[in-house]
Amino acid sequence: MSTAAKAAVRISMPTFIDSHAHLCDPAFDEDRDAAVQRLRDAGGIGVVCIGESIAAAERAAHLSASYPGFVFATAGVHPHDAADFDLDRDPAAIRELIARGAVAIGECGLDYHYDHSPRPMQRRAFAAQLELAKETNRPVVVHTRQADDDTAAMVAEAGAAGVRGVLHCFTGPRRVAEAALRVGWYVSFSGIVTFKKWDDDDLIRAVPDDRLLVESDSPYLAPVPNRGRRNEPAWVSFTVARVAAARGAEPDTIAAATRRNTIRLFGLSIPSESES
Ligand SMILES: [Zn+2]
Repeated sequence: MSTAAKAAVRISMPTFIDSHAHLCDPAFDEDRDAAVQRLRDAGGIGVVCIGESIAAAERAAHLSASYPGFVFATAGVHPHDAADFDLDRDPAAIRELIARGAVAIGECGLDYHYDHSPRPMQRRAFAAQLELAKETNRPVVVHTRQADDDTAAMVAEAGAAGVRGVLHCFTGPRRVAEAALRVGWYVSFSGIVTFKKWDDDDLIRAVPDDRLLVESDSPYLAPVPNRGRRNEPAWVSFTVARVAAARGAEPDTIAAATRRNTIRLFGLSIPSESES
C-alpha cells in the first residue's frame, strides 16, 4: 500500500529542473547526497550546480561526475571576487573546466550593492567571462544587483555578438530584463517571489513562456513556507507554484516550460528528456 501511495505522489509531481544551486557550498557538506535525493523525490530531473569561483567550479565538476545526466556544473568567478580575477590564470582554468564538461560560464556579473570588488574590476572580470562565453560557445549565468545600466549595456553588446545567457535570481528592474530578452536571453526567478514583500508579479508575467527559468539559488533564499531555513533544490517546487499563480498557469505547465528552457539554454543531456 505504501508503495502505491508513493508512486502516485511521484507521478502527480511536476518534473522540474533547478537551474541554479550552490550545491558545493559548505552548507551542504553534511547532506549533499541526501539533498540530491530529495530533489529527485520531489520530482526534480536535474540541477545546475554553480561554480562561483575556480575552486567551487572544481568541486562542481566532481559532483557532476558523480551524477551524470542529473547534476551539471558551471565555471566562473562571482563579481564579489572580481578583484582577484587573474587574466593570466582564470580564463585558462575556466576553459579547462569547459573542456571537462562545464555547461556554462558563471556565475559572473556586476554587484554595485555590496561593491565587494571595485566596479572597474567587476566590469573587467565580467567582460572577460562574456568573451570566454563567445569563444567557447557556452551560455553565461549572470548575477546583477543595482548595476542596471552597465549590466543592460554589457548584456546587449554580448548578445549582439551571439552570446546567450540568463539573468539569474532576477528581481528587476523590468528594463534590464527587456534588454536581455531582446537579445535572446532568459530570466530566472528564485524563492524571492514567494516572499511576502514581493510585489512585482508584472515582472514575472513580462517574461515569455520560452524564456522563463526557475532556480533555488540554494543554500540561500529559501522560499515560503521554509523561509529562513537553509534552502535546497527540492524546494524550487514552491517557486514553480508561485510563478504559475502569478501567470495564471498550472504548476505542471510552468515546470514543463522551465524544464525545456533550461535544457535548451544549457544544452543539457538528460536521459529521460528527448527535448533539445
Ligand atoms: Zn548564485
